[in-house]
Amino acid sequence: MVKSIKDLDITGKKVLIRVDFNVPLKDGVINDDTRIREAAKTVSYALEKGAKVALVSHLGRPKGEKNMAYTLKPVADYINEKSIFPVVFVSDSVGDEVGKALDVLKPGTALLLENVRFYKGEEKNDPEFAKELAAPFDVFINDAFGTCHRKHASVYGVPGLLKEKAAGFLVEKEARYFDKIVKNPERPFAAVLGGAKVSDKLGVIKSLLDMADVILIGGAMAYTFLKYKGFSTGTSIVEEDQLSIVADILKTAEKKGVKLMLPVDHVISDKFGGEPRACPEVSIPDGFMGLDIGPETVKEYSKALEGCKTVLWNGPMGVFEQPAYSGGTFAIAKKLASLGVTVIVGGGDSVSAVKKAGAADKISHISTGGGASLEYVEFGTLPGIDILRA
Ligand code: AMP
Repeated sequence: MVKSIKDLDITGKKVLIRVDFNVPLKDGVINDDTRIREAAKTVSYALEKGAKVALVSHLGRPKGEKNMAYTLKPVADYINEKSIFPVVFVSDSVGDEVGKALDVLKPGTALLLENVRFYKGEEKNDPEFAKELAAPFDVFINDAFGTCHRKHASVYGVPGLLKEKAAGFLVEKEARYFDKIVKNPERPFAAVLGGAKVSDKLGVIKSLLDMADVILIGGAMAYTFLKYKGFSTGTSIVEEDQLSIVADILKTAEKKGVKLMLPVDHVISDKFGGEPRACPEVSIPDGFMGLDIGPETVKEYSKALEGCKTVLWNGPMGVFEQPAYSGGTFAIAKKLASLGVTVIVGGGDSVSAVKKAGAADKISHISTGGGASLEYVEFGTLPGIDILRA
């Protein structure tokens, strides 16, 4: 297990907390404050313990340049406006300004440092930059799960330099759920995988072949599997260059006794987003593309999920952004919510699908990291979490 902020004595100490305030911002307006609200528990805890707290985050992709379109100032204003916790904005993330702000910081107030990606050293994990970032602080806390797969200075470099380090509540919870999946899942363990590309999820599928008992495939990536198996896939998205890899996956699944299931029917159309039509068989007619799993597939997948003790879901079953092709994804979301077992959902699209389906409150764990959650399953850990253990 990773050490928690609760295991450290932080009273009176200067504490740098890596948060993920990479919120959707349009014209200075924050459309979704979930990430801020989620990190607030750790920040408030540190403030209550009497720590001198500074928060460091990235926002967007300023590519190592100071670009005010990506300033975190509106985030600081929002936090104060909504009285989430008292915060003072610092217009730099390293250097004298940070030291001075810490010196005059009032108890109970946190600092929010300017976007750490204004410096090239952040994404490169430049040792000099990491040193500058760490310099004013005694303790490092990571509460930004969505960035834990990145070896960046504020995620990996700084905790490599500070002895006292731990996970915030958010990262601790994510690590608890994902550790359970990769080390000791309650069985049967099912993985539901969808989304656009096989190539994006290859690593995680390969790892899941060693862990899962059942793998249910949906989304566009199912068509590469079906094509390999000799079914016609019409104009569906197929990754021709992945056909041999898909062959390996199917062979390995058979050898290891993993039940890998593919769609048996579809919702199709003659063009992306065109009129929907039912396709009650596996093969898709010429000139049509598969855009969602069909009702028989939903039935078969639902049956396969019954009795499972652990389920991991990543990636939608179809083009769920369009109502005509959202049925499969929402049906699976509702099924998962009804199981009453450990269900972990990761990846922005699957998270928004469970929320839209009104199923979020019945899901055991909704991960805040898409890429990070996939890499956790693929590699069994993440660099940003491992370094907290060092
Ligand atoms: P990913 O980011 O890999 O999880 O992919 C999510 C995207 O895959 C969503 O935007 C879906 O609309 C898209 N998607 C899912 N199923 C299909 C499909 N059958 N054809 C085209 N796109 C799809």
